[in-house]
Amino acid sequence: MIDIPVTLSKELKTKPTVAEEGSLGFGQRFTDHMFMMEWYDGEWHNPRIEPYHRLSLDPSSSVLHYAQEIFEGLKAYRAEDGRILMFRPDANSERLNNSAKRMCMPTIDVDFNVEAMRRLVEVEKEWVPHSDGTSLYLRPTMFANDEALGVHAAKHYVYFIICSPSGAYYKEGLKPIRIRVEDKYVRAVRGGTGFAKTGGNYACSILAGDLAAQEGFAQVLWLDGEHLKYVQEVGAMNMMFVVNGKLLTADLEDTVLPGVTRRSILALAKEMGVEVEERHIAIDELIAYAESGELQEAFGTGTAAVVSPVGELCYRDKHMVIGGGNIGELTMKFYNTLTGIQWGRI
Ligand SMILES: *Cc1c(COP(=O)(O)O)cnc(C)c1O
Repeated sequence: MIDIPVTLSKELKTKPTVAEEGSLGFGQRFTDHMFMMEWYDGEWHNPRIEPYHRLSLDPSSSVLHYAQEIFEGLKAYRAEDGRILMFRPDANSERLNNSAKRMCMPTIDVDFNVEAMRRLVEVEKEWVPHSDGTSLYLRPTMFANDEALGVHAAKHYVYFIICSPSGAYYKEGLKPIRIRVEDKYVRAVRGGTGFAKTGGNYACSILAGDLAAQEGFAQVLWLDGEHLKYVQEVGAMNMMFVVNGKLLTADLEDTVLPGVTRRSILALAKEMGVEVEERHIAIDELIAYAESGELQEAFGTGTAAVVSPVGELCYRDKHMVIGGGNIGELTMKFYNTLTGIQWGRI
């Protein structure tokens, strides 16, 4: 038995009513409790669940200066029979450790981390929303907290898990998005931190995202940082293409975030007998497939949207409309199967 003492909050917040669940959005409200523990003297101390609270940091706290920080994102779902299901928390815990190693941060035993999430969700089970498509989003986060300046691995870390009830990503059904292929800014380079879920990767991506948004694009599709030639991924989603019935996605190397949704869809594809290719995909190759009509479907994959159909890709002056701007058959099949598993219907 792992000892995780629980201190319950004396002032519970008002939970959203079923009617209000529709307008929850994402990451706006947080539940009554959080998991927390600290690392120093070479080990984790004092794991506990306690009332949700603000953190007090010294202005010299290392994370504020040198961005030694990693996080995760996963969901708990309420099944029709009342069970509450987390989707592959072990995969997120393993990925957290891979991010930690790259960022010189301490790892957390995978079973322990899954247990911490399970207990927190158990305490907060009334916060898991009921309506179709809603879920409780978990955000495990670790950051360096030495109270001194100086660039080196810190000796103090904080790990916490917070929970946020989330509305349905698609309120009116899946909707294809427009994406701009970014040909100036890059997100990740070989030998860098692209495969780690670390805040800095996001910080450096905001400018390109903002510029694309001003032109009406929902996301940018990143090209590789070396040649600006190979397709990598979008904001917080991996990218998949259906070409002549085959499923194509960028190979991971160390520049692409290894999405749990990506991994799950590739596994499903293999089970369904869909041929999968994980490899370098040049943007010129993709344009040629689009022009010849061989590019049948495109979609992003990530925890938030699960599957996000892409109706249009724009690269410089080329506008590629995919599948007539409609949602593809495989896209829909993956969406229905994966959400079916997540909500316990399959
Ligand atoms: C989290 C994330 C993804 C998607 O990962 P999932 O585990 O499927 O949610 C994709 N790309 C980036 C950059 C991410 O941070």
